[in-house]
Amino acid sequence: MSAGIRVTVWNEGIHEKELPRCQAVYPDGMGKAIGQYLEQQSDIASVHYSELADPDQGLSDAILDNTDVMTWWGHTAHDKVTDANAERVQKRVLAGMGLIVLHSGHMSKPFMRLMGTGCFLKWREYGEDGEKERLWVVDPSHPIVDGVPEYIELPNTEMYGEPFGIPQPDQQVFISWFQGGEVFRSGCCWHREAGKVFYFRPGHETFPIYFNEHIRKVIHNAVRWAAPVRLADGFIQGNVQPLEKME
Ligand code: ZN
Repeated sequence: MSAGIRVTVWNEGIHEKELPRCQAVYPDGMGKAIGQYLEQQSDIASVHYSELADPDQGLSDAILDNTDVMTWWGHTAHDKVTDANAERVQKRVLAGMGLIVLHSGHMSKPFMRLMGTGCFLKWREYGEDGEKERLWVVDPSHPIVDGVPEYIELPNTEMYGEPFGIPQPDQQVFISWFQGGEVFRSGCCWHREAGKVFYFRPGHETFPIYFNEHIRKVIHNAVRWAAPVRLADGFIQGNVQPLEKME
């Protein structure tokens, strides 16, 4: 996309207002921590910040018309996103918009609609400091791991464990190991009609994970991977005339 990628960072924006520990780690909010690295990249044309409390929940047609790739962080208010807005996001993805679903977004309405499965998992928040996680690259050929080390170590995380109720990913990019013994498919790619979806596990409202340089690089790479691909003249679905003369 020579013109640059237009990103919308959608953030629920509730923990930042209610949890002192979240405010301490993300004084400007998680959305800003996710978007500020993207803003500095030459291939990113724009970063728009949307929150649940915004008019139209930050998902108006005007915003979506200016979005090539959306990142999604939600946790405590998945049910507050209207079904109409979830359907709008889903349809945009089917039409080509990229969607990067982060951490607890695994139970968000747009992601669950696009997966068509339960999307549940195991989880554990171990004490104040959580536990160690290593995200192992399992596909060194994938563009999402360009410039990323063999594994990313996060000293303080919330555990997510298998089985994860997702459809088999089209491409598996990362698998996590946790100190407590569990493993998790923490970086997964799917194609949905003309659109691409990447689920990326890291990120919790009380840990500074979205400031980690490797996590930021993965999100930027994922935005590039998920950016829309456009055919020269679009494509047609429905009833068409034959291209060749048929007797
Ligand atoms: Zn969490």
